Amino acid sequence: MERFPSKNILSSLSQFQPATAEEPNTPQPKPLKRVVSGSALKTLLEGKTGQPKHSDHLNSEFVDYVSKELPRDEKTILTSIITLLSSTFFKTPHNTTSVDAYNGAAFSIRNRLLRRLDGTDQFFNSIKAKRVYYMSLEFLIGRTFDNAMLALGLKNEYSNAIKTLGYKMEDVIDEERDAALGNGGLGRLAACFVDSLACSNYPGWGYGLRYKYGMFQQQIINGYQVEAPDCWLDNPNPWEFPRPEISYKVKFYGNVAKSASNPHGYTWENAVEYEAMAFDVPVPGYGTKNVGNIRLWSCKTNHLFDLNRFNSGDYSGATANMVAADMLTNVLYPNDNHNNGKELRLKQEYLFVSATIQDVIARFKTSGKAWSEFSHMVAIQLNDTHPALGIAELQRILIDDEGMEWDQAWSIVTKTFAFTNHTILPEAMEKWSVPMLGKILPRHLGIIYDINLFFLQHVEKLYPNDRDLLARISIIEESSPQQARMAYLAIVGSHHVNGVAQIHSDIIKDTIFSDFVKVYGPDKFVNVTNGVAPRRWVNQCNPELASLITEAVGDDSWVNHYSKSSKLEEFVDDEDFRRRWWEVKQTKKEQLARYIKNTCGIEVSSNALFDIQVKRIHEYKRQLMNILSVIYRYNKLKNMSPQMRKEQVPRVVVFAGKAASGYYIAKLIIKLINSVADVVNNDKDIGDSLKVVFIPDYCVSAAEVIIPASDISQHISTAGTEASGTSNMKFVMNGGLILGTVDGANVEITEEVGDEQIFMFGVLAHEVDDFRYNQRYHATPPDSALQSVFDTIRSGLFGNPNEFNPLIECSHGAGDNYLVSVDFPSYLMAHDAVEELYKDNDAWVTKSILCAARMGKFSSDRSIDDYAENIWNIEPTAADF
Ligand SMILES: *Cc1c(COP(=O)(O)O)cnc(C)c1O
Repeated sequence: MERFPSKNILSSLSQFQPATAEEPNTPQPKPLKRVVSGSALKTLLEGKTGQPKHSDHLNSEFVDYVSKELPRDEKTILTSIITLLSSTFFKTPHNTTSVDAYNGAAFSIRNRLLRRLDGTDQFFNSIKAKRVYYMSLEFLIGRTFDNAMLALGLKNEYSNAIKTLGYKMEDVIDEERDAALGNGGLGRLAACFVDSLACSNYPGWGYGLRYKYGMFQQQIINGYQVEAPDCWLDNPNPWEFPRPEISYKVKFYGNVAKSASNPHGYTWENAVEYEAMAFDVPVPGYGTKNVGNIRLWSCKTNHLFDLNRFNSGDYSGATANMVAADMLTNVLYPNDNHNNGKELRLKQEYLFVSATIQDVIARFKTSGKAWSEFSHMVAIQLNDTHPALGIAELQRILIDDEGMEWDQAWSIVTKTFAFTNHTILPEAMEKWSVPMLGKILPRHLGIIYDINLFFLQHVEKLYPNDRDLLARISIIEESSPQQARMAYLAIVGSHHVNGVAQIHSDIIKDTIFSDFVKVYGPDKFVNVTNGVAPRRWVNQCNPELASLITEAVGDDSWVNHYSKSSKLEEFVDDEDFRRRWWEVKQTKKEQLARYIKNTCGIEVSSNALFDIQVKRIHEYKRQLMNILSVIYRYNKLKNMSPQMRKEQVPRVVVFAGKAASGYYIAKLIIKLINSVADVVNNDKDIGDSLKVVFIPDYCVSAAEVIIPASDISQHISTAGTEASGTSNMKFVMNGGLILGTVDGANVEITEEVGDEQIFMFGVLAHEVDDFRYNQRYHATPPDSALQSVFDTIRSGLFGNPNEFNPLIECSHGAGDNYLVSVDFPSYLMAHDAVEELYKDNDAWVTKSILCAARMGKFSSDRSIDDYAENIWNIEPTAADF
């Protein structure tokens, strides 16, 4: 795959190095002589020293106040909002807007969460519960306000209070900006998992980074994606608590020397030191007092201001170190399933890992338990390899700071970590150049070498004289320069490795990790199929459907026990229920039609079949195949008589998704979609028979509008490339059907709902290698349908045909790595089957209800139960406070 550098903030950032980086040993300029002395000035210049004082006196009123729940009536809520508006936000009835109403209400409800967050933490401390830490460089949280109101069961009360203030709840909810600290599925999974941890009363937290700029905002200008920074922290953020008292020093660069005092340890000298500070993001549990937490780290900068350089007139020098530190938590890398090996990314990962491991150890120490108990008190899950350096970091701290021997430390490490693999795409595998690792993290490189040495000695004992095996399995790849393979480090340092859907877990055992199965045996490798939170992905985004499910189940207990939604199946023949089921879908389609009008200016008919593909734009996800089939459909409609055209099922094809800023082909696919949309939507012959829409800036809150409105959604990755997919689950839970390939969680969805309910097509995962080989060396020409589509593009109908040539090249012949031309004929047949069924409304509604009823497995609560039981060995306990 080819990627071209693009001129945006990220590519310039990644060239960046801190001012101190090149010469960490440069002596600092001597402080200027101070002419005034005295303790007041000393405090002023050097900051307060010593610890703030903690009173031993437990004031009973204070204890009472924080341990009691606030009254839940409307009057109390309204008063709390007005108090916040008039004091904290300095607003009067004359200048309050809907943004202020949002701020007042959001801060009011977060103050309720605050008490419960503290209560939950104290409770788990008091019972000395084993805790799980979900380490993830991404948390795609989206909005929190609605989620919090629903979790606390206070949405009616807040809605009434908002109404009394003169605002509509929908408008106020829309004032919240998404917390978009993630790219796509992996980050959203992390957010669903912490939601499930909280709702199911597990003692678990998420750990991540607090990026100042989250996922870029996508604008579409002349059909092209243009990236704008996501300044999500411009407004006050009610959902984070700064914790300046919780911060840790993190070192970079420098050199390593044998410790004089510690016989096993090394000291890390001449390092550049940064400081990471905690921000806590409460995660409300639905229908439980338990409130979880995501602790996000931000790099502190203010103390790095160089007053001496400032005084000598060197203004940019005065802030150089601040800028360097700031960079570490400035920007989320916008790559999904792609690794680009940049130095700044390595530093981000290490800052995250080091602060997290230090914090976990600090909490463990308050339990008073011995080190031998560590893995009975702590489980750490690595969400992909991004936090895999945590393995080396814990080993380093145990040896260098705690004075342990290698074996004792390593035994603790490998009982603590577990690793989730998310992809087999080679371009996504994280590797760090060894010279770069050695420069930035000299001690960790030494530890990784030792881990590898002991591991290879173990392999050599099991399989003597197999030099090929040793070369294949080594954590250090013998390329030039050498590369450290982070997935291998993660496997060697973990007690379990899991894939995210059964087919994916099987594939990694048979392919990329097969050598490790030989060494460790098969039991280290397990499957935990992904899931999504029914709180957000049904109850919150589709209240209309939620009330039907509540009616079928008898109460709302399905929200935390989603398999109860199977009760829906009993209503599949109930005429009245079926009618209301269909009306809900119509309502959601009308809402999406309005959203499309507002965001794209395109009118679509809510009577059409809504055919939706929304996800990151990627060659392996094959949005390209989708838009090529749209061109085919357009040609077919053009060739029909007006009468015949009227008899076709009218269709709205919806796309949304971001392309990584440096991913040239993905961006070109967006351009092709928009160019096709321009032609089709303005063709008077076509009218409502076909509309094509690209909704800009796909994000969690857009997904909440789009997903409930689908009739059919597409999950059409080349078999074997999509590890799981999670939006497939969200769509079916909302009564949409699936058009998909035999890949990822599609396979298990089919098992659950029945293969007669789903539209599947395409080659199978185990056939892909042969087809790829064939494409490369003996490709047959594309079939006539695909050829006609290429001809249309080449005719210039969608603008300069040369521009789209690269897309034609990668959808046939030797360039067709993702088998677009191979799957195209069966894809068109599947589309025909969808259309046939849609004409039979009764049959369609039956499938819609049956599918939704059979999705119990795909709640992330079930995923978390699986992890808790098979990997973490932790128990849920309802907090009692
Ligand atoms: C669920 C979700 C995804 C993942 O979608 P896939 O189709 O599984 O790749 C990505 N982005 C957002 C905003 C989501 O909500």
